[in-house]
Amino acid sequence: MNYVIALGSNLGDRVGYLKLACQELEALAAISSIYETLPVGGPEGQGPYLNMVVIYESDRSPRKVLEECQRIEGVARRCRNEYHGPRTLDLDIVAVDTLVVEEPDLVIPHPRAKDRGFVMAPIYEVDPALAWRLSPEIAALLEHQLWQEGREIITGVWLKGQLDL
Ligand code: AMP
Repeated sequence: MNYVIALGSNLGDRVGYLKLACQELEALAAISSIYETLPVGGPEGQGPYLNMVVIYESDRSPRKVLEECQRIEGVARRCRNEYHGPRTLDLDIVAVDTLVVEEPDLVIPHPRAKDRGFVMAPIYEVDPALAWRLSPEIAALLEHQLWQEGREIITGVWLKGQLDL
């Protein structure tokens, strides 16, 4: 199965944490660019995020992959005590092929992904069909390159060469 996983970091060595996540998730079929974005919600004064999306191939169940994502967040010593607060590393399962999961602690497709430009822009790079499925409105903007730098939350696009994988 193809897992589309969104990564984010806004604390410490942000590129280093994204790189760590990519190395821990071994079977990556695709890696988006890295986007620098303003925080959405949460406490004042947080630093900007780096966000990206990867496609991870695995035969493991969504529950097992969620556990794997949480293990990797633990490796990055994520601090969970402040809702929407700064985090060294956040991993969300956005979609798994056309699978639908609706459990109390695991919802796929991720219900908030379609509202977040910082998730939709990198998804559009690695899986445009998924971007269209999640949000035709945002996908149309991305297709026509109307989602320019500085608009909404995206402040910059970095090359994935930054990761040196
Ligand atoms: P967050 O603070 O955004 O990392 O949220 C983490 C919580 O969201 C975890 O306790 C997960 O059980 C839950 N969750 C629900 N759906 C998903 C998903 N698709 N991917 C990752 N975490 C999820």
